[in-house]
Amino acid sequence: MDRARILIAGGGIGGLASALALAQKGIASLVLEKASQLGEIGAGIQLGPNAFHCFDRLGVGEAARAMAVYIDKLRLMDAMADGEIMHIDLGETFRARFGNPYAVVHRGDLHGVLLKACRAHELIELRTSTEVASYDQDGNGVAARLGTGEAVRGAALIGADGLWSNVRRQVTDDGAPRVSGHTTYRSVIPTEQMPEDLRWNAATLWAGPKCHIVHYPLSGWKVFNLVVTYHNDAPEPVAGQPVPVEEVRRGFTHICERAQTIIRHGKDWRMWVLCDREPTDRWVDGRVALLGDAAHPMLQYMAQGACMAMEDAVCLADSLATADALEMGLARYRDRRLLRTARVQLMSRAMGDHVYHPAGPHAALRNAIMTAKRQDEWLDVLQWLYGGNGLD
Ligand SMILES: Cc1cc2nc3c(=O)[nH]c(=O)nc-3n(C[C@H](O)[C@H](O)[C@H](O)COP(=O)(O)OP(=O)(O)OC[C@H]3O[C@@H](n4cnc5c(N)ncnc54)[C@H](O)[C@@H]3O)c2cc1C
Repeated sequence: MDRARILIAGGGIGGLASALALAQKGIASLVLEKASQLGEIGAGIQLGPNAFHCFDRLGVGEAARAMAVYIDKLRLMDAMADGEIMHIDLGETFRARFGNPYAVVHRGDLHGVLLKACRAHELIELRTSTEVASYDQDGNGVAARLGTGEAVRGAALIGADGLWSNVRRQVTDDGAPRVSGHTTYRSVIPTEQMPEDLRWNAATLWAGPKCHIVHYPLSGWKVFNLVVTYHNDAPEPVAGQPVPVEEVRRGFTHICERAQTIIRHGKDWRMWVLCDREPTDRWVDGRVALLGDAAHPMLQYMAQGACMAMEDAVCLADSLATADALEMGLARYRDRRLLRTARVQLMSRAMGDHVYHPAGPHAALRNAIMTAKRQDEWLDVLQWLYGGNGLD
């Protein structure tokens, strides 16, 4: 295969993971990041065991394990009745089954681990304040056209430029992302400000009619991550806009008092109107391929977007390293990733409808189905997801 360096548009979790995965296979890359600084928003992220399989393949297993909080359970609460519906134990049996833990981390810490490893690797170059606007390609390589008009050449271009990907616009031309109408508000608060009776070592989900609340500890228990979502049919996409707490509370007046209290303790709330897309198989155009949210943006209800981006990275590098020609390697990467990522995209939507947001008899049915499963049955249900490593 052509061993000339590969261009990566985007220095988020997917882009940096791709650079590391390629470097592990001896392939050089140049990451082109639009922002003036490489970083992540100050919020938490959940990592399934499949993320840890990837960390090891990216060469950052030890550093990633050191920054995580290892929660005891995934806990589903009824936000109307104020009681636990069910939980999944994340202890020894879970870890032994999937070969790795389930954990939560601060996004900045995770991004920092990837960035440090990229900076330390001689095969990786990072450029900031560099927006990829479009690309041209011929039989010998790709030219990424920058916002400044400059062209940067490489053997291939990976579009890891997120939900609003410029690279995707050229690869698939399938219009803007779908606005879900779900509005998410995020806050991170010091642990001492979290109500004492809710300082659980769990990723907790309070599910209510058209709304839900998620909380878990982060950063060595120094802070709690709060993510609350209201399905208010918001018509326009929004990303990271500050909002007053009164606006956040408005969508949650119908749920139990204890769950509402959590919102009152939040500070500096920011708002996103969530988007996703239908799965498509148009991820590859010759020497150009999409990865992470640029390829398969999903709602966060399976907590898997970043995990899938890292799996993509591992699979991309493996597919390129074993291919005779670059175009064949990229097509093989797409074929290996398509069904798994499409399944997570579609199941994330379904989880929103049937687990996170139902009301009345629909919610009662959820409770009945979910309480009926034993712990070992939950592990069977999750095998396809957490047992994967990006290469299957
Ligand atoms: C509320 C919420 C909660 C979530 N929780 C979880 C969770 O618990 N677990 C999980 O696994 N996932 C979670 N996700 C999903 C996860 O955050 C994303 O799937 C993941 O961050 C995608 O990474 P990415 O690198 O593909 O894209 P991004 O993180 O969007 O990175 C894209 C990068 O490209 C840059 N860029 C954009 N355009 C250009 C351009 N034209 N040229 C150059 N650079 C460009 C951007 O500045 C950015 O740095 C959550 C998402 C949301 C919204």
